[in-house]
Formats: sequence, C-alpha cells, structure tokens
Amino acid sequence: MKNGLYIVATPIGNLGDMSPRAIEVLKEADVVACEDTRVTKKLFSLLGISLHKTFITLHDHNEDEQAQKIIDCVLAGQSVAQVSDAGSPLISDPGYKLIKKCKEAGIYITTLPGCCALISALQLSGLPTNRFMFVGFIPNKDKARTDLFAKYKNLDATLIFYETAPRLLKTLTVAKDVFGNREMSVAREISKVYEECQTASAEDLIEFYTQNPPKGEMVFMVAPAAEEEIRQEIDLDAVLKDKLAKVSLKTAVKEIVETYGLNKNEVYEQALRIKNAN
Ligand code: SAM
Repeated sequence: MKNGLYIVATPIGNLGDMSPRAIEVLKEADVVACEDTRVTKKLFSLLGISLHKTFITLHDHNEDEQAQKIIDCVLAGQSVAQVSDAGSPLISDPGYKLIKKCKEAGIYITTLPGCCALISALQLSGLPTNRFMFVGFIPNKDKARTDLFAKYKNLDATLIFYETAPRLLKTLTVAKDVFGNREMSVAREISKVYEECQTASAEDLIEFYTQNPPKGEMVFMVAPAAEEEIRQEIDLDAVLKDKLAKVSLKTAVKEIVETYGLNKNEVYEQALRIKNAN
C-alpha cells in the first residue's frame, strides 16, 4: 500500500457496515492511529484483522505531538490508517489538526468513506435535507445550551446536534422555549437492534421520552425556521446595512438570501432602498 495517511470510517453500531476496502486498508496499514487502543483492537479482533502492527493514540490532548510522529512515519515510507472509536474520524472526533499538518507536509492523504451518525440521522428524520447545519455536541450548561440554539435559530437549514441520553429531556425543554412548535427529531441507536427515530413537536417528544426514558446514542435535529418566523425575528434593515458596509449590493443580497432563505426580490428591493437613501 502506498505510503500516506488513510482516514478510515468504522461502524457506528453494525459491524457489517465496514466496507471490504476499509478492512483491506486496516489489514495492510503499518500504523494505526486511534482514539482508544482498547476500542480499536476490539474492532480489529471482531473483523479478524491481525493486531501485529503499531497502534498509536490520537486524541484532543495529544494531537499536536502525535501528528508529527505520524508525519515522520509516512515520510519514512509507512502507511498510517486513522480511525476513531466509531464513525467518521474528524466529525466531533479528533483529526482536523492532523490533516492540516499532513497537508502542509505535502503527504498523500485519502479517505475511506463510511458511517457518519449525523448523515444517517438526517436520512431517517423526515426533515428537509437540501440544506443542513451540523452544530456538534450540545453544551451541558443551561445558558450555553440556550445561547447555542438562539445563535442558529433563524437559519434556513435543518439543525443537527450530537446529544446524550441523560441530557435529552433537558435539551428538549430548552428547545421548546427557543424553537417553539417546530418539528424536531431524535434518531437513536442507528444501525443497532433498537434503532428508532421519533419526529414530532418538542411537546410531543417530551411526553414520549418522559414515558419511554431514552437510552443509547442519539442525534437531535430541528426543522428549519419558516420564512415568516425569520422575518419576525431578524432586523433585516440592520442586517442589510451591516452587509452593505462590507460587500457589494449583489453579494449582500446573495449572502442574506442564502443564510436566511428569504425572498430574493424582496431583499433586493430593500437593499436598493437603503443604498439610495444613503
Ligand atoms: N465521528 C462520529 C460520526 O460522525 O459518526 C461521531 C463521534 S461522536 C464522539 C459520538 C456521537 O455520535 C454520539 O454521542 C451520538 O450523538 C452520535 N452517534 C454515534 N453513534 C450513533 C448511533 N449509532 N446512533 C445515534 N447516534 C450516534
């Protein structure tokens, strides 16, 4: 196998989701960079892959030093496979700094696509898929959670968050306050025996999960804001004035329409009025 860095997705529940090509790369790699060697060695054993290779850890706290070690291995002619505990590396998992450094070092990088919880959850949700925003993990502190929701509330995009079972009811309660009666969705235990996806209002989800305490891994999603809701919430005049001070009228209109999903002609006319008044 060519020397370089191979980003390898692993299953998020069902072992059968590991692709034959990904198994081949893990078999052939000289070095495996992983978050937790115990988790990855267990996966290797389940897949019948020999453990006779070098395993090194890569996590948020050692990424800088380990990146240099990995680059040195590749420059010495070795192939390095990077995996996380489950799913796609780099997505709410370590790896971003490593890839950046490997690119700077000019080494060969490729990816073996596979499981990614946010994509599977979105597919199951029944919420719009044409535009979505992955926000990552929801903070545990009340104010931080409310602020995060408020920050993305007016986007014309389905919002996707990673969440844990013990925090779900609290998250739904805050989501009800911030997003009101919008549709929301919880996709749980994807690709496992008890896979389930509930899509409903926050109120109905709160009732459901109070009666059926949630377990396992989950993804929380919120439907995009409706156009009227965005209109009521954002001060279009202020947003336009701010943009017009920085970019051309055409760009300002384009960016605002894309961000908030508003009607292009109406935003254009308002932008013209502001420009002509100055
Ligand atoms: N990089 C991984 C990916 O994108 O697939 C995610 C890693 S992140 C540390 C772990 C989070 O992903 C979990 O807390 C949960 O929110 C979500 N997740 C992982 N596996 C899942 C599953 N089988 N069903 C639902 N959510 C899952």
